[in-house]
Amino acid sequence: MNLHEYQGKEILSSFGVRIQRGIVADSHKKAVEAAKQLATETGTEWFVIKAQVHAGGRGKGGGVKIAKNLQEVETISEKMIGMDLVTPQTSAEGKRVHQVLIAEDVYYPTEGGCDPDEYYVSVLLNRETGRNMVMYSTEGGMDIETVAESTPELIFTEEIDPTMGLLPFQARKIAFNLGLEGLAFKEMTKFITNLYRAYVGSDSSMFEINPVLKTSDSKIMAVDAKVTLDENALYRHKDYAEMRDLREENPIEVEAKAAGLNYVDLDGNVGCMVNGAGLAMGTMDLIKQAGGEPANFLDVGGTADAKRVEIAFRIILKDTNIKAILVNIFGGIVRCDRVAQGVVDAYTNMGDDLNVPIIVRLQGTNAKEAKELIQKSGMSIIAATEFQEAADKVQEVLAK
Ligand code: GDP
Ligand code: MN
Repeated sequence: MNLHEYQGKEILSSFGVRIQRGIVADSHKKAVEAAKQLATETGTEWFVIKAQVHAGGRGKGGGVKIAKNLQEVETISEKMIGMDLVTPQTSAEGKRVHQVLIAEDVYYPTEGGCDPDEYYVSVLLNRETGRNMVMYSTEGGMDIETVAESTPELIFTEEIDPTMGLLPFQARKIAFNLGLEGLAFKEMTKFITNLYRAYVGSDSSMFEINPVLKTSDSKIMAVDAKVTLDENALYRHKDYAEMRDLREENPIEVEAKAAGLNYVDLDGNVGCMVNGAGLAMGTMDLIKQAGGEPANFLDVGGTADAKRVEIAFRIILKDTNIKAILVNIFGGIVRCDRVAQGVVDAYTNMGDDLNVPIIVRLQGTNAKEAKELIQKSGMSIIAATEFQEAADKVQEVLAK
């Protein structure tokens, strides 16, 4: 589950990581109030108005703006709230901005002008070694993928032993490699230590802070925060679970989740309805071999009754690229004839809404009865028993 910048910063702050402070607002009136409060609390004279959407590159798309007084806070916020923000990481339609973060300006100038040092720091799982690692670079504030391509030697990683956690010498090594000394060095070791505590303590799968800023008075702080929480651990973080913003998520996936279905939207043209994640993966491979592309991953779970099958069909059909639907169910606990009845009932209920060919493969308990039931129903459902047979039928349908 992804979080907004302001939510990520809340978590960071609760673990003692220094952050660029801010107050979130969902109207320009509240934005002005937030700015006044922030000015009192931090003494800041300038403000940064930051669009809160689940996408990076906001700065490039006009989603990060400086306001030099309350009047500017009002006009900029009014324009930003409600706009569709397009960044290099969004679609061409962009993402609707519902809230802005009014933050203190932390790039305050020094005598020689303002040339702040920005770093990149993230904590994430290295899937190859099965260990958490801190990834860091002196090239902060830029798109890290670009840095990885053009100057990979400027990206460092520090692997962490799960039994020991991040050791003090590792935090010091990171601060040293970032070229820091004096107060900034101490600040950075503390920053890295607490950042890692936040990552582990919140059961996250990613914490990306870009940029980490060294202020002109050598403080180290998080200016941005991109946080992904591990959904499977949310049961032990009820307060984080409330941070979910459904407006940022794929609406079809949200609806599927509410119906208890395990659904992931994909780009292809063949919808899949399968029970069991392993069989679902196998079915997606099968569709590819048949010359199609899976339009989704859908695990309907153990109870494939008519109601559930119908909801699943309706969710699959929300995707307008669908050319065929392949139902591939193994009847282990659930009997195939009951699933078949579910498919037939759903088909009857949905009438013209079900306007693409359906290939049904049922295997396992009462598979024979299931096939007969489908054939007898007189509906244009294509029945198959074998895996390959189902693939061939998908191919036939797509060729038409
Ligand atoms: P992103 O573009 O979505 O990654 O958003 P960020 O939060 O990283 O902000 C983008 C850029 O805005 C940063 O790299 C900074 O250069 C700039 N920025 C952020 N906060 C401040 C600030 O307090 N003062 C100034 N002058 N610039 C800031
Ligand atoms: Mn950023």
